[in-house]
Amino acid sequence: MNISTSQALFEKAQNFIPGGVNSPVRAFRAVGGSPVFIKSAKGPYVYDEDDNEYIELINSWGPMILGHGHELIQKAVSDAIQHSFSFGAPTRREVEIAELITSMVPSIEKVRMVNSGTEATMSAIRVARGFTGRDKIIKFEGCYHGHGDSFLIAAGSGAVTFGTPDSPGVTKGVANDTLTAPYNDLDAVQKLVDANKGQIAALILEPVVGNMGCVLPAEGFLEGLRRICDEEGIVFIFDEVMTGFRLSKGGAQERFGIKPDLTTLGKIIGGGMPVGAYGGKAEIMNWVSPLGPVYQAGTLSGNPIAMAAGLTMLSYLNEHPEVYSQLELSGHKLVNGFKNSMKKLGLDYTINSIGSMYTLFFTDQQVTDFPSAKSSNLPLFGKYFHAMLDRGIYMGPSQFESMFLSTALEDSHIERIIQANEDSLKEVI
Ligand code: PLP
Repeated sequence: MNISTSQALFEKAQNFIPGGVNSPVRAFRAVGGSPVFIKSAKGPYVYDEDDNEYIELINSWGPMILGHGHELIQKAVSDAIQHSFSFGAPTRREVEIAELITSMVPSIEKVRMVNSGTEATMSAIRVARGFTGRDKIIKFEGCYHGHGDSFLIAAGSGAVTFGTPDSPGVTKGVANDTLTAPYNDLDAVQKLVDANKGQIAALILEPVVGNMGCVLPAEGFLEGLRRICDEEGIVFIFDEVMTGFRLSKGGAQERFGIKPDLTTLGKIIGGGMPVGAYGGKAEIMNWVSPLGPVYQAGTLSGNPIAMAAGLTMLSYLNEHPEVYSQLELSGHKLVNGFKNSMKKLGLDYTINSIGSMYTLFFTDQQVTDFPSAKSSNLPLFGKYFHAMLDRGIYMGPSQFESMFLSTALEDSHIERIIQANEDSLKEVI
């Protein structure tokens, strides 16, 4: 495959941008080689600067659940820009999107819009700290909640991909206030809570993890955390930046029937524009400025173009439940196809999946937490990644990522992915 234009751009980029990219995992460092530079995308396809076509499994790391260039979202954005780009003032659409979010996400009574998932999680723990008057938080090893200082402790996603789960630059004071527990280990959480009685403001987790690859909560884990938080007056936060509007229209909390106190959102909520949000119980959200004393603000928060895209996306998802049945079916077909191929080839790698998220881990261990995810054969993943790319399949360039399906994938695309997977496995094993 000719990617010479991408290679030239990457070489040039490194002179002006740290590592040549604006977000680390895009650099392909974990898998080697040069990243492809994307020029355009439509439906299930992305096209690079050398006009190679790929079937999408990244979908901008989640947001493009309807595939690329959905006509309703494009129209909403082009209509919105006729009225200028930003006002820094309240708008009608902000009210409409807030009302819609509270009707779609079971636990959210009030919601504040921000510009990214990182802002959402940073703000959620600040309000939890204000509300409880406590300093410490609990997060889980391998979960990623954006690049806020408090979360770069045993972090997943790009942070683990690059061997920096604990980032330099985070002060000891901040790091000391973040306690970590192994995912899916309720006893460890109980011990941590007992040892820090009355000091823990919030417990935050990805209810289904995407950032150590796809890892599901064990039976009873989310219920157990809810109970511990209730007993100890800890604000229970679901980080649904990835799972929100993806695992169902009400996110993981609807799918698992558990109500957190606060929820953070991002990705799909902006329809591809930079949007995040945090929301939850009114009694907690009422602590946010200007109603309450916890300060949080944003020049571009609730940006009218972003709100137009987000509102159109969420309205569509709300009115089209068949989106979720289609994604479930696509997920099943793909995963079954992968499993059949592995059986044929005598391989017993682990594939974790739920709905339209999946990860093929290059390990025969069950992957239920960070250590088991890290037992994967990373060099082998790198070879597999390139074998898939050569066959026109665009995947997340790290073992510690989830793939995301979109409704733009038809059966013929799924069959192509299954075949490419089988051929790639044959090539690299
Ligand atoms: N939380 C989760 C679960 C995420 O997956 C991410 C990003 O991938 C974030 C937070 C941070 O969101 P953003 O990259 O929009 O800052």
